Amino acid sequence: MDLELLIDLHKDGERQGPGSIELTSLALNMAGLTKSVQRLKVLDVGVGTGASTLQLAKSLNAEIFAIDLSTVFLQILEEKARSQGLSDKVSTRVCSMDDLPFSEDNFDVVWAEGSIYNMGFSNGIEYLKHFLKPGGTMAVSEVIWLTMDRPAEINEFWQNEYPEIATPSRKMEILEEQGFVLEGYFPFPKSAWWDNYYQPLQGRCDEFLSKYQSEVAKQLIEAVNMEIELYEKYCCYYSYGFFIAQKV
Ligand code: SAM
Repeated sequence: MDLELLIDLHKDGERQGPGSIELTSLALNMAGLTKSVQRLKVLDVGVGTGASTLQLAKSLNAEIFAIDLSTVFLQILEEKARSQGLSDKVSTRVCSMDDLPFSEDNFDVVWAEGSIYNMGFSNGIEYLKHFLKPGGTMAVSEVIWLTMDRPAEINEFWQNEYPEIATPSRKMEILEEQGFVLEGYFPFPKSAWWDNYYQPLQGRCDEFLSKYQSEVAKQLIEAVNMEIELYEKYCCYYSYGFFIAQKV
């Protein structure tokens, strides 16, 4: 997969994965995080163009460190933060979430919307928890099975894409095994995928294809369309789930 093409396809989206302002707010509520909580130090990982970062900056009295592998995404986030008057709350850093330049027990909150899959859920929780202070909050969204049984076609697709996909109870168990107390969980509604992610993404495909006209670009759009078709057909079997937990 051509990373530059992928970034170009996604850079003009409000978000680069399923989610919404309301779901980020719900996760904040479940964690008991409001503007009245004393100034928080927040690490937001795999932020893309920063849908979650901007929402956290608006909702919290916080200093937010937003990291991503993509310089392009982070430049867009910086511009958005500037235009929304949030620059004083947001610092960006290009780095990998599995090699963070921060010291341990450093953050009150670690936030990861649709990004922990880059390390795998188990590895990601195990690594990222070191950066949380004791009593700190971990909030993570991740693709989940909604049912124990599902049709072979969708089962095979996700086993190839992300073998760590599991039902929510397994994700909760991993958090508990890693020394967390679960504070909340909720599955994403269809609108978080469709209205906020797939529909805007589909809307950008024609322009993208006329810009690139290459075989690789065509294959990328075919893969997007296939993913969307599978979602339409099988969305009652999988979604994203938000998991909110406290480090003991
Ligand atoms: N959190 C954003 C959202 O919900 O809109 C983006 C989610 S997108 C599915 C995954 C993000 O992870 C992308 O922005 C990608 O650049 C970033 N990413 C991929 N591998 C990474 C890594 N090793 N370290 C940090 N970020 C990474």
